[in-house]
Amino acid sequence: MNRRNFFLATAAATAAAATPAFAKKTSQPKRSLRIAHLTDIHVMPDKDAPEKMARAIQHAQSQTDKPDLILNGGDCIMDALKRSKSETKAQWSEWHGVLKNELELPFYSAIGNHDIWGWALPNSKKNVSYGKQWAMEELALKQRYYSFEKNNWQFIVLDSSHFEPSFKSGYTAKLDEAQFAWLAQTLAESDPKKPICILSHIPIISFCPFFDGDNEKSGDWQVPGPWMHIDARRIKDLFAQHPNVKLALSGHIHLRDQVRYLGIDYLCNGAVSGGWWDGPYQEFPSAYVLVDLYEDGTSQSQYVPYLES
Ligand SMILES: [Zn+2]
Repeated sequence: MNRRNFFLATAAATAAAATPAFAKKTSQPKRSLRIAHLTDIHVMPDKDAPEKMARAIQHAQSQTDKPDLILNGGDCIMDALKRSKSETKAQWSEWHGVLKNELELPFYSAIGNHDIWGWALPNSKKNVSYGKQWAMEELALKQRYYSFEKNNWQFIVLDSSHFEPSFKSGYTAKLDEAQFAWLAQTLAESDPKKPICILSHIPIISFCPFFDGDNEKSGDWQVPGPWMHIDARRIKDLFAQHPNVKLALSGHIHLRDQVRYLGIDYLCNGAVSGGWWDGPYQEFPSAYVLVDLYEDGTSQSQYVPYLES
């Protein structure tokens, strides 16, 4: 190479390196899929909730860069735990009405605490299995927890709500023994080359529960068990044995954070209903979250306040 060609080659290489398209090709991993995570919709007959729920679904489905599927994080309706059967039925009817009119994308659901009937009613003990069974029927779930694969990613959907009559709410956030054993088995059988995304209604690890209420008013931090998995330490230890667990999505708190802990991104992803359809909850308006999942197990997320555009 003579001196002139060397300069030309160097100049071309420098220009190419400065071009975003070139930088993208070399630094960006290939995307496997894009998901829309819609959680805490809390549809009810009033507060224009059905119309706004419809707008959230339309907004996600009309993205130019369209999601491949929707993950529904649970709390589809409002407080079935302590509502009458007829009120609960009326809410599910709104839910199905919107989905029937709007839904185009594949849709996978987790059960939220608000979806379970009767756990906070008097004599709640007799409603334990029926309450959850009813939610499963409405969400067309054969299992409370399950796994599926899409574009080289494995998804594991968990059932966070555990009956606990000593709590006024009727539940705490925990995997029962059978579910924990199933999770351990599912992870043990997973392909170590396939990244895993966990979906739970209640966060496994999150900062948001600290600010959901006056948790510091006693002079000490108090985070209740129903707000973040009380078995988080046990789950964290299990995940540590499986480095292909990369991402864990949740809702429940209606605030948003991203906690990166021991190589896993835990995203608590706000609420489609914001402050239960009364405007934003603290700093967080009604929103859903788009998550891009890449072949190398990394991900990127984007909070979408759909009522503002
Ligand atoms: Zn919830």
